[in-house]
Amino acid sequence: MENQNIRAVDPAVADALAGERTRQEETLAMIASENHVSRAVLEAQGSVLTNKYAEGYPGARYYAGCEYADEVEELAIDRAKELWGAEHVNVQPHSGTQANQAVYYAMLDPGDRILSLELSHGGHLSHGHPANFTGQMYEVEQYEVDTETGYIDYEGLRETAEEFDPDIIVSGYSAYPRTVEWDRIQAAADAADAYHLADIAHITGLVAAGVHPSPVGIADFVTGSTHKTIRAGRGGIVMCDEEYADDIDKAVFPGGQGGPLMHNVAGKAVGFKEALEPAFEDYARRVVDNAEVLGETLQGHGLSLVSGGTDNHLVLADLRESHPDLSGGDAEDALAAAGIVLNGNTVPGETRSPFDPSGIRAGTAGLTTRGFDEDAIEEVGDLIYRVVDDADSEDVIYEVGERVVELCEANPLYQ
Ligand SMILES: *Cc1c(COP(=O)(O)O)cnc(C)c1O
Repeated sequence: MENQNIRAVDPAVADALAGERTRQEETLAMIASENHVSRAVLEAQGSVLTNKYAEGYPGARYYAGCEYADEVEELAIDRAKELWGAEHVNVQPHSGTQANQAVYYAMLDPGDRILSLELSHGGHLSHGHPANFTGQMYEVEQYEVDTETGYIDYEGLRETAEEFDPDIIVSGYSAYPRTVEWDRIQAAADAADAYHLADIAHITGLVAAGVHPSPVGIADFVTGSTHKTIRAGRGGIVMCDEEYADDIDKAVFPGGQGGPLMHNVAGKAVGFKEALEPAFEDYARRVVDNAEVLGETLQGHGLSLVSGGTDNHLVLADLRESHPDLSGGDAEDALAAAGIVLNGNTVPGETRSPFDPSGIRAGTAGLTTRGFDEDAIEEVGDLIYRVVDDADSEDVIYEVGERVVELCEANPLYQ
């Protein structure tokens, strides 16, 4: 067997990986859906379990030799149950999108009706966007945020549900900075006799730590990605009551996937164990406090935030008032050149386009993982503003970039 390391076997990929590692060390990961996993999670994900086929579920596999795969999957499931308090957990979805796919596939027929938040208002592609299978397989109607306040228009959602008569209502969002009132969405689902899927992809870690209210026990299904605030490496998860357990398990495998990515399931198990430590609650609290400081700093410079602030790990700035000539995409490019990596994002009432939107979205999960405190975050807010306010200046980008590297060196990632 070939036993040389990656540098000897494939210098091109080795170089790219080394480049990526340096990129992560020397830039600020502020894409709100990203985080940095621990060395232990990396190790699990890079483990020999990548070799193992384990189609089926613990104790009921299609292949022999699954005893360690079973152990790992059971640990992941038990820890997830403890973290989120769900009756049933499936840890096999390859990603959050596959987790959602499993719920739709289990509970809906083609042509059934999905009611979800409009993408430009903070929704997700897998909630019924025309470019996604959900938009093509199902009939989709959308609710919105109140463009004045930036908060979910719960009353409008209830009215739309009454008219549209959905089979499922989807809550949980990609670019929504406020606390979600799960019970109000559940009330609309009850009135419409619809299922309720709460997709907590972004806020998995905040919910696990109790710094955002949990939809578990309220919504019928709770899905998530495992690589965002929960910091357990790339993957997805579905949670539900026991009554739907069989339907969900069958929809994940064999319904929508083949063999589980057992090395990723191992990453989930390890990340969930870390999240059960008391330190994780403190981490989640600091993520939210840091986002508040970031928001206040940007507002102090005159930037307008959608909803006027944040309750969670992200802020969404609408540049139209303060910087009408700067698109979110151009801001993203200038900030990236300075080592601040975030994304241009649509805002409610978008007047540009998804490819050249009016806002920028920034999260604090990654920086908080590498130890940024409130003072450091405030400085990051100042640096973001300097670039946004002078996005054409190469001098500003250079100066900010120098300071970004210093901040990164003061808060190293994987020593
Ligand atoms: C990130 C996200 C997902 C899943 O994304 P994957 O890349 O498939 O893991 C699903 N829903 C929402 C709301 C998200 O933000």
